[in-house]
Amino acid sequence: MLKSKVALITGSTSGIGLGIAHSLAKQGADIVLNGFGAISEIEELVDSLSMKYDVKVSYHPANMANPDEIKEMISFVETNLGGVDILVNNAGIQHLAPIDEFPTEKWDAIIAINLSSAFHTIRCALPSMKSRGYGRIINIASVHGLVGSEHKSAYVAAKHGLVGLTKVVALETARSPITCNAICPGWVLTPLVQDQIELRASNESISVEAAKDQLLSEKQPSAEFVTTEQLGSLVVFFCSEAAEQVRGVAWNMDGGWVAQ
Ligand code: NAD
Repeated sequence: MLKSKVALITGSTSGIGLGIAHSLAKQGADIVLNGFGAISEIEELVDSLSMKYDVKVSYHPANMANPDEIKEMISFVETNLGGVDILVNNAGIQHLAPIDEFPTEKWDAIIAINLSSAFHTIRCALPSMKSRGYGRIINIASVHGLVGSEHKSAYVAAKHGLVGLTKVVALETARSPITCNAICPGWVLTPLVQDQIELRASNESISVEAAKDQLLSEKQPSAEFVTTEQLGSLVVFFCSEAAEQVRGVAWNMDGGWVAQ
């Protein structure tokens, strides 16, 4: 379905981004990975994805906190693969603290990586999407783009900002074959959430398993994690012709979290 499309997924060396890369490659898209990690492990990822799905897979190490590196990454895709058709803004970090104890450098990093990076990637990638006559911009926000939780001031602010940015880009591209939407996942069991589970287990002197159950039962009525495969399938749907008039949505996939 996506043969000859080029998909750039930021923060795709792990977790949700990697799951989305698998789903898009399975549909025949060529993939550009991005994110941190040991270079030998990233090389293995590149080879295994490309062999498994018979698609071109490349990697660019741009730090999403750095606008110049983002610009360089988009140029790299244009030079080597013709341009970005599917842009998934997924890179993200987390830090938990009450606002009066929140380190300012953590605030700046979260806003840069979770929000501003999407402004920079979209700004740089949009001209070539226009000239190629197809574009899908998918911003991985969060339920925290729709509701708040304590101790997550920077994350919640960034994700609400990302949902706002999604709407503006959707309006500016409304009369074109380019769409822009956001996905708002609830809890997904990735390294980012594993860290929060382990922090809770140590703060409350409970087992990791008990901390996991608490985390789910507090917020996610289904009491089950959303999977990266489920999120990948939603991304594939957004890339399809059927989704051509889905524009500017913030689509929650959250086991019922924001229905409460
Ligand atoms: P993760 O920690 O498993 O993966 C994050 C990815 O981003 C990694 O590949 C990492 O290398 C990359 N990354 C981090 N900082 C970067 C930077 N400066 N430059 C480039 N890459 C960078 O996390 P995840 O849970 O898969 O999260 C992915 C996205 O999904 C994030 O935006 C997160 O906010 C969002 N999200 C996650 C959950 C969840 O429950 N896991 C829920 C809602 C939204």
